[in-house]
Amino acid sequence: MAKKTPNSKDKQAQHKQASPASNESRVEAAKGAAGSGPDSNGPVESKAAPGKGGPPQGSVAASSDTSSAKTSVLPEAKAKAVEPKPLVPDSAPASAQTAPAKTVAPETVQPAVEKAKIGELTSGPAPSAQQGAKDKAEKPPVAQPVKAASVSEPASAPKKPAAGVESPRGDAKPARPPSFPTEAEFMANLPPLPTEEVIDESQEAEFLQAVEAEFKDLPTVEEAAPAPAWETVEVVEPEPAPEPQPNHVPPAYVIPSMYIVQITPELAPVAKVGGLADVVFGLSSELEIRGNHVEIILPKYDCLRYDHIWGLCETYSDLWVPWYGGAIHCTVFFGFVHGRKCFFIEPHSADNFFNRGGIYGFNDDVMRFAFFSRAAMEFLWKAGKQPEIIHCHDWQTALVPVFLFEIYQHLGMRHPRTCFTIHNFKHQGVTGAQLLNATALHRPEYYFHYDRMRDNHNPHALNMMKAGVVYSNFVTTVSPRHAMEAKDQGQGFGLEPTLHIHHLKYGGVVNGIDYEFWNPEIDRYIPFHYTVDNLDEKYKNKKALRDRLWIADNEKPVVAFVGRLDPQKGLELIRHAIFYTLQRGGQFVLLGSSPDGQINNYFWSLKHQFNEHPDCHIEIGFNEELSHLIYAGADMMIVPSRFEPCGLAQLIAMRYGTVPIVREIGGLADTVVDKDYSPKPLHERNGYVFRDYDGKGLEFALGRAISCYYEYPEHFRELMKNAMRSDYSWKNPGQDYLNIYDYIRDK
Ligand code: ADP
Repeated sequence: MAKKTPNSKDKQAQHKQASPASNESRVEAAKGAAGSGPDSNGPVESKAAPGKGGPPQGSVAASSDTSSAKTSVLPEAKAKAVEPKPLVPDSAPASAQTAPAKTVAPETVQPAVEKAKIGELTSGPAPSAQQGAKDKAEKPPVAQPVKAASVSEPASAPKKPAAGVESPRGDAKPARPPSFPTEAEFMANLPPLPTEEVIDESQEAEFLQAVEAEFKDLPTVEEAAPAPAWETVEVVEPEPAPEPQPNHVPPAYVIPSMYIVQITPELAPVAKVGGLADVVFGLSSELEIRGNHVEIILPKYDCLRYDHIWGLCETYSDLWVPWYGGAIHCTVFFGFVHGRKCFFIEPHSADNFFNRGGIYGFNDDVMRFAFFSRAAMEFLWKAGKQPEIIHCHDWQTALVPVFLFEIYQHLGMRHPRTCFTIHNFKHQGVTGAQLLNATALHRPEYYFHYDRMRDNHNPHALNMMKAGVVYSNFVTTVSPRHAMEAKDQGQGFGLEPTLHIHHLKYGGVVNGIDYEFWNPEIDRYIPFHYTVDNLDEKYKNKKALRDRLWIADNEKPVVAFVGRLDPQKGLELIRHAIFYTLQRGGQFVLLGSSPDGQINNYFWSLKHQFNEHPDCHIEIGFNEELSHLIYAGADMMIVPSRFEPCGLAQLIAMRYGTVPIVREIGGLADTVVDKDYSPKPLHERNGYVFRDYDGKGLEFALGRAISCYYEYPEHFRELMKNAMRSDYSWKNPGQDYLNIYDYIRDK
């Protein structure tokens, strides 16, 4: 039976009594506070110093004084106008700011115990006697979609309710243990993360000085926005309209529709590991909407989400792909993935290339995808397809332009031109001479030339990504800022000289997101739909998220992270954000996974530490459905990456009115505009940005966000609306890619 929180009834009663005056009066009070506070003139003025801008614990508590005019109105308060909620009691210590325990409904507890037993049988040893209610009422893990990144709990893991299980409303909230570890205590018990860098406290003063120095010369509001022209310009009588001239202007150039083939290792939602999958799906949809014919070719993995493929049927049964002097027999299937026309290549060979339960992470990945690239080209040729554009993605399909130029154009495929998009420079597919033998390219002395495929650093290795850059007609990466960083700022992972040589055919196009799939108005994975005009509905999703993850239902902001747990994503800052958020009176939700066992174990340890914490939930695994609920239910999304070519998490978050907090790097810098420090107009500001990769940097942005949430809810709400109004659909990038295709097709 679920353990009751000591004094849970008292807390509940206290909670109810503590309901402040009507919500309306809180709105008024907050307006007053906002009007007279330092932020009252809008974001430009509110230059909170790092680490000081937000309310310390005390100021959060102070805002809960129900009789005071300083009482805060949280952005969600509007959603709860009928049922006002109390703020955290003034005197409550951080550890006491928990939600009241819910009444335990006997009929819901019993099944939970039964499920816990099933959990014991299926996922490791029984939990220890000290484990609290959350453990005991645990439910067995829900079957997750088979994904490369999905992981299983280590054998020693204690039981934990799976996030896929709805917590029955009315269940007891988990009991709170006496204390949770601090970040330092937690780190003392574990080896450092693979990428761990010590966060140097002594750098704070230096950091503050740097920030002050940087922003002291910012223009004032008057300088930045001089008086509108109409105030100073005399009104002049309009001249009579000139006589209409015969119109000799030729009609605007319209790009004729094209036949485009995408060759890709990933496609959302059937084979998704990261953003590449979303990009191929979203871009293909946009290109079709604009009247082009688009086909997508990808491997037929055994772990495809077959429930998202319609009309799957064999379409080409006799494809023989040259491989190591012989040939491998393949079958090609056709099916629709949410309307997109897809071909799936299935090889029949002892190598078992794509029947491994995952997409990446195997020793022979280079060979697997070299084979796929060759098979895709062989299929196009044998099937007599002559697309105008072949668009390939990342190192996995970087050999496609090589095969086209060196083999298939001599066999009659003279028509297609190739566009190569690099989604991540970190992984380049570096391998040895056996690649040439396997793919029947042969002639090592030719391909090992520096101008072709030879790796820039290892003269005995071939670099597939470099080959893609050299052989394609156009090369893009996924944001203009990252295009520059990769070429000129050392983020090209050794490809800088190659990018310089080919700079005339190189550029950056910022990714979009699919506005149909990621749409809070119709999203099938979230219980309550909303738009910028009825934002209050978002808070019902926040409640649903809390119910699902068994975290407390209170007035705190929910800060989230969704993404791969890769060193690229800033693992130590993610960890720091968890502790900092809890310390600043927020809640934290993490959804992520890693193919690296060490990283996974690290986050499992963290998860165990917070297993019973009412304000924190860590979910390890890949879960598309849950990610939608997090985007919809969270208030803020952190993306503290070390490097980030584009990043989709911040774009999706904005679409759902979840304020992004990002590092100023790559595509994050191109898409998020800081609320307080950007020179851009107020209505274009849509999040918080920090520059330095350290704890203070993160606190500088996250602290301001939490402060704004508590102290200036009206401003925070405006920020949410700005984020929702930012257009990161495929409309603009779709046009950019069409321009590129049109540019290269006549070359
Ligand atoms: P990257 O491509 O580097 O992984 P992006 O931010 O560009 O990062 O794209 C990540 C995409 O994958 C987003 O759509 C994000 O929601 C999704 N994603 C990442 N990890 C998970 C996970 N564990 N569960 C569900 N979705 C995830």
